[in-house]
Amino acid sequence: MPARNVERNSPRISARNLVRTSAAFALATSLAISPLATRITANADDQPLLGYSADNSRTERQWEEKLRAIPSTDNLRAYMQHLTAHPHNVGTPYDKEYAEWIAAKFKEFGLDTHIEQFDVLYPTPKERVVELVEGGPKFTAKLQEPALAQDPTSNQQNEQLPTYHAYSIDGDVTAPLVYVNYGIPEDYEQLDRMGVSVKGKIVIARYYHSWRGIKPKVAAEHGAVGCLIYSDPHEDGFVQGETFPQGAWRPKDGVQRGSVADMPFYAGDPLTPGVGATKDAKRLKVEESPTITKIPVLPISYGDAQPLLAALTGRVATGEWHGGLGQTYRIGPGPAKVHLKVKSNWDIKPVYDVIAKIPGSSAPDEWVIRGNHHDAWVNGAEDPISGMDAVIEEARAMGELLKQGWKPKRTIIFTAWDGEEPGLLGSTEYAEEHYDELRKHAVAYINSDTNGRGYLFIEGSHTLEKFTNEVSKDITDPETKLSAWKRDQLREIATAHSSEARQEARQRADLRIAALGSGSDYTAFLQHDGIASVNLGFGGEDGGGIYHSIYDDFYWYTHFSDTDFVYGRALAQAAGTMVMRLADADLLPFEFTNFSDTIQMYIKELKALATKSREDALERNRELEEGVYSATTDPKQPLAAPPAETVPTYLNFAPLDNAADTLSHSAAEYHKAYEHAIANGNTALASASLSEVNALLIESERKLLTAEGLPNRPWFKHQIYAPGFYTGYAVKTIPAVREAIELKQWKQADEAIEVVAKVLQSESDLINSAAAKLSAATSSH
Ligand SMILES: [Zn+2]
Repeated sequence: MPARNVERNSPRISARNLVRTSAAFALATSLAISPLATRITANADDQPLLGYSADNSRTERQWEEKLRAIPSTDNLRAYMQHLTAHPHNVGTPYDKEYAEWIAAKFKEFGLDTHIEQFDVLYPTPKERVVELVEGGPKFTAKLQEPALAQDPTSNQQNEQLPTYHAYSIDGDVTAPLVYVNYGIPEDYEQLDRMGVSVKGKIVIARYYHSWRGIKPKVAAEHGAVGCLIYSDPHEDGFVQGETFPQGAWRPKDGVQRGSVADMPFYAGDPLTPGVGATKDAKRLKVEESPTITKIPVLPISYGDAQPLLAALTGRVATGEWHGGLGQTYRIGPGPAKVHLKVKSNWDIKPVYDVIAKIPGSSAPDEWVIRGNHHDAWVNGAEDPISGMDAVIEEARAMGELLKQGWKPKRTIIFTAWDGEEPGLLGSTEYAEEHYDELRKHAVAYINSDTNGRGYLFIEGSHTLEKFTNEVSKDITDPETKLSAWKRDQLREIATAHSSEARQEARQRADLRIAALGSGSDYTAFLQHDGIASVNLGFGGEDGGGIYHSIYDDFYWYTHFSDTDFVYGRALAQAAGTMVMRLADADLLPFEFTNFSDTIQMYIKELKALATKSREDALERNRELEEGVYSATTDPKQPLAAPPAETVPTYLNFAPLDNAADTLSHSAAEYHKAYEHAIANGNTALASASLSEVNALLIESERKLLTAEGLPNRPWFKHQIYAPGFYTGYAVKTIPAVREAIELKQWKQADEAIEVVAKVLQSESDLINSAAAKLSAATSSH
């Protein structure tokens, strides 16, 4: 379940950031001419890696080169062929069999491996009906993806999970239909102005512009009794390109399955929030779970949606509301009346997490964790096996190096999660069950989910931004032979929306990484446990219209995606290098100037958002007084004026500004201490006792959490990153403040500013301690 239907945010920059950025750039340049660095800069590769002494850096580079030489495209192809031969969603025989197969592989590579089981609520379809009962020719939706002669696994109908939305409540409703565009909050504001109510109606929304689970949530909040979500060819079908099997895009009867549990409220098993779903765990009753939808919902293909949409009359949906079906779109309500029935088997099913360890030699209590999920909606070649493939090859490569004498300092844990698709089940239950020990020991969590051709996308904790930039400079892009970093930089220049953004892409020492919201297995590690996390994968060049359908299989992948698996190898190289470099570092490669620069950027965005909200309210009220709305509406297509708004009071950002200043000062102090340690010669980092500094660095992400969590959703504890309550996967940074501003809750926004300021203050305190300890530990050398 990667964030495929969310556009990746391109970070916005400002004049102020550019100033800060060039300061960071100058700092990086001064590092390069430190005495030690000049001595060994004959080859840029000889520049010590972040957190390494010069000698240990050279040794590390040798091991990393060996590591990157091992992953084999033949193996990646063979693993994928095996792991996609049958549908393997939760609760199926192949889900278990593949988990055992992956565990056997890890064992074969010499890793200490076991399977950890949890028991989770996992509904599967029992009855599904969508029919047009009035207002047009009688029509019953197929709700079935046909087998294709070319595609050898598409005919496994007895093993395929039917098309449905996991965690839709059961329901049997018949009501007039309303087309609600993407079904996001702005669309309902527009419907209000059109005078269209969805109360007592069934809505039909197209996919995109929010995570799918938001659509039934918002529909229910507006009084709808049922919800259909379909893949419109405008975003996901023939408008984008040739459809499968001739091309990569979604065919007429292709359906996107998916979870609709309210994961922005809490992730994982709906019955065991906050605790591992072990045999004896205390469970909510199904009807008590707050994350199951309030109204029944089903996904349909555009083949099934077309006759329903054609039977709508009423206002014509123009502009942004018009889809790609090549017919006039109308909003209704009715006369089309739809019968929607959803009934599931509400069973408890096992999930099988595969856990494999390489014990650390000198710091076994510090854990570097690497994972991808193994469960799929159906055969799942792209999602998840293209990512799982890389994890298996990384484990094999490290097993080889262990035999050659490599000894990682820290413990490495490879994981293959189950139950990611229905609700991040396996990873969340694991992160909840092992909460205390993970908070004590986990250094970082490195995630992938899917992989394809193109650019290396990296998202994650900004304390690791410099580190991930350093790694991506060592990865070769298979198509251009540039480094993955260079290709990313050139793409940023090509796609920048302003000259400032272009300048930043050219000059900033590090490319910005996007923040993590939700949508894959890092969620519980980052948002609930406070473990610095990174998500990565290649993509951006493949067409994709098979997401969560029966056509996401070996045939599709080997015809339309990374057909020769060279990007699978590049992913294994990139993630494997990250894991190895974190596991072997003298000093953990956390870095805080990029983090504090990012925080400054977020605060600037929040101020702009508050200002805009204020100005918009003033402008709207003024236009209401002037009669703008009543004068410009077409009486034959009337659009009601929006309601007047209360003009917000000014927010007090001073606590946040002060905390951010303190943070940037602490970040600079730590940087100075690090620079000093490097300048102190080769031995300082290698022989100093850095365990106390490393222990503080491990804590640095934990400090960004509060025990109380976010307002109204305490499971999400991170105060810098969270999935949006009304957007789903897409991240909201400094979420308590940002969402309060978006929801025009000014008092809450002011309170949240105080909370986040305290969090940043305690982060600064920790960074100061780390700087002091680093200076003390390295000055004696
Ligand atoms: Zn996935």
